[in-house]
Amino acid sequence: MRPATPYRERETTTPATPTAPPETLRPYLTPRHELLWQEAELFAEQYVAPRIPRLEHSTSTFDRRLAQLMGRRGWFGVTVPAAHGGLEIGHVAKTILIHRISVMSAAAGAILQATLIPVGAVEHFGTREQKTQWLPRVADGSALMSIAVTEPTAGGHIGGMETVAEREGDAWVITGSKAHIGNVHIADVHVVVARTGEEGKGPSQALTAFLVVNDLPGVSVTAYRAGHGLRGFSAGQLDLDHVRVEADQVLGEVGQGMEVAQHASIRHGRPNLAAVSLGIHDAVMKLTTAFLKARPRYGATLLDLPVLQDRLGAITHRLHAARILLYHAAHLLDHGIDCDPDLINAKYSNHAWAIQSCQDAMELHGARALDPDYPLQRLIRDIQHTYAPAGTGEFQRIHLARSVLGTASPPQ
Ligand SMILES: Cc1cc2nc3c(=O)[nH]c(=O)nc-3n(C[C@H](O)[C@H](O)[C@H](O)COP(=O)(O)OP(=O)(O)OC[C@H]3O[C@@H](n4cnc5c(N)ncnc54)[C@H](O)[C@@H]3O)c2cc1C
Repeated sequence: MRPATPYRERETTTPATPTAPPETLRPYLTPRHELLWQEAELFAEQYVAPRIPRLEHSTSTFDRRLAQLMGRRGWFGVTVPAAHGGLEIGHVAKTILIHRISVMSAAAGAILQATLIPVGAVEHFGTREQKTQWLPRVADGSALMSIAVTEPTAGGHIGGMETVAEREGDAWVITGSKAHIGNVHIADVHVVVARTGEEGKGPSQALTAFLVVNDLPGVSVTAYRAGHGLRGFSAGQLDLDHVRVEADQVLGEVGQGMEVAQHASIRHGRPNLAAVSLGIHDAVMKLTTAFLKARPRYGATLLDLPVLQDRLGAITHRLHAARILLYHAAHLLDHGIDCDPDLINAKYSNHAWAIQSCQDAMELHGARALDPDYPLQRLIRDIQHTYAPAGTGEFQRIHLARSVLGTASPPQ
């Protein structure tokens, strides 16, 4: 049998030396942010780039080592208070890390963002003991977290979830399955939302969040299988078979599970996924510009043709607008401003516009776009993964409409 040809990407999507943030982001950035921007790019170049070929080629390997390397830099504690050992540098800083890592690899950016969502939930809802137990470990990289809400049947309909937690003395016993859980194979603790409500209670009080340590009896994770994109990002199913959790592991109040899930999704999921989309979009832009600039035509290059400049202009316009929407929303969060519509816009537009730019890039590359080992293939697969999490397009648009109409949000 002939050995399989190793997957090899021929072009890199980030420059060899770190870039400066675009001028348009200056109002949102401090000198510390600018250093972080460079640090993330250098990390991506040194540690992420060499791993991409192996991860893209393999259908059975996720990257635990990359998570460890990011953890050691304290990045999982980027929003964690300094009192718990974190960097405590906020949402813009978090956005920079996910964005700049995702320019090189959206899978690596996804590893980072998937832990930062449950970390946000523990920061906000955790008791003093829970914060003392988990946040310092997250901050020094010795513990990773996941958030487990979505289910195989109920999907994103949180109010329809079937996982149940029943009270038994001082403990809760949880049974059910969670699907598409980011970092599920590498997390040490999962924030699991389950149904605890008595009959007659509405979905908003019928759910409770729990901290479920990975090695408890009854916790199991299905084997990793690479998806369409984000190869190397651990994602999969978490099964809970009569898992006994002590009552002090309830995160927030009993009956507050919907709020925990929504808070995590809104304040952390939306900007985090937007940052992954933005990274992919940046990479698409760079790759396309480099391609057009290098391809000779009529004694000049393709980039000298006004019609192709016009098309590159369309990508630039979307990228510019998407970038500002995201950093503006993260900046509002850092200033304690309630900005749900901005977070929705950031998430929704960053995905939608990056998809359009991917399509433009495909066309602008001609047949070259179809080469299996050309990075554009990876970017086009990866961008599909930022649509569903933290609110699909339908939910985001309905939320936006209702924010204008002043009516209640749709049930989830
Ligand atoms: C990369 C990635 C990472 C993820 N990470 C996590 C994670 O860490 N933790 C976690 O819990 N989940 C995670 N998810 C799952 C994600 O949250 C779900 O995919 C999402 O909630 C949608 O659920 P679903 O895919 O089952 O779609 P469904 O809920 O089955 O929906 C299918 C389609 O129907 C539409 N739809 C459904 N109901 C309505 C309605 N009432 N009105 C209008 N349209 C509707 C949806 O918008 C969607 O287009 C992740 C998913 C991906 C792709």
